Amino acid sequence: MNEPILRIKDLQVRYDTSRGPVSAVNHVSFDLHKGEILGLVGESGSGKTTLGMALVGLIQKPGRVAGGEVWLDGRDLAKLSPWEYKAVRLADIALMPQGAMNSLNPVTRIREQILDGIRDHGILMSKPEADTHVAHLLERVGLRSEVADMHAHELSGGMKQRVAMAIAISLQPKVIIADEPTSALDVVVQKRVMETLKDVQEELGASIILIGHDMGLMAQTVDRLGVMYAGRLVELSPIQEALTNPQHPYTRLLIESLPTTKGKKRLRGIPGLAPQLLNLPAGCAFHPRCPHTFEPCTVHNPPLIQVGARRWAACHLLEETA
Ligand code: SF4
Repeated sequence: MNEPILRIKDLQVRYDTSRGPVSAVNHVSFDLHKGEILGLVGESGSGKTTLGMALVGLIQKPGRVAGGEVWLDGRDLAKLSPWEYKAVRLADIALMPQGAMNSLNPVTRIREQILDGIRDHGILMSKPEADTHVAHLLERVGLRSEVADMHAHELSGGMKQRVAMAIAISLQPKVIIADEPTSALDVVVQKRVMETLKDVQEELGASIILIGHDMGLMAQTVDRLGVMYAGRLVELSPIQEALTNPQHPYTRLLIESLPTTKGKKRLRGIPGLAPQLLNLPAGCAFHPRCPHTFEPCTVHNPPLIQVGARRWAACHLLEETA
């Protein structure tokens, strides 16, 4: 593994609510390497999207980054002012937002939406230069240059997602946060969009954090998998090891709930519901749903510990082995 391009240390995001503070991202640390695709999975409310938004400096009040560091190119992004973050976002780290269908402006042509971020970074182009640049970006993500003159409502779901990709890569960022880039797309379009994203990533030499629920998509796409539960990172492993020998009971249950084409297998859902962040169980937040709960689980929160080569997990069961 080469040097990390992005280093996240002990990141915490809190929401101050009338019922008390809520830790949506709770002491999360990991590295992202150059050219790597890291998947982040977990049930809704596990903190994946909040983490992605924190990395691009888009946490809105009443939320705030309450602590930690986000190192990119020798700079701690967590310490930047909103104005300083504006210069970094898109140029160094870009977001493909969840629900591209709704994130494009319905009344502005695609051309202007692509150029908006570029101009915002002080890059001025003549009209012919801008036309060529937009056409090039659209072609790079598999769209015809005529799409530049269209509005979002004239595009299919897959085309809108590609436009979101064109915007995200418009300044050739080093890191792309792709938040559920293929949700609401049919499987064929999903596959094509992901192929395009991987092509673009290889061409730019960028790294990607791919946020999603779809373990099948993760298996085909990512190099490493991070699993989040109740705002914490509970497992981080190379994808093959995570799929064939998951260490954390939650990861194991997530994988057991997947259908397979090899023989008949009884699908098992994960019992219970994801906890409310305002009212987390004491000790390990997974203990009310875990089939292996034992005495320390209800009292102590297990730390994330190294459990193998490039493998980390947070579970009391693994402490002796580690
Ligand atoms: Fe289950 Fe205990 Fe491990 Fe939590 S710490 S995942 S409750 S065995």
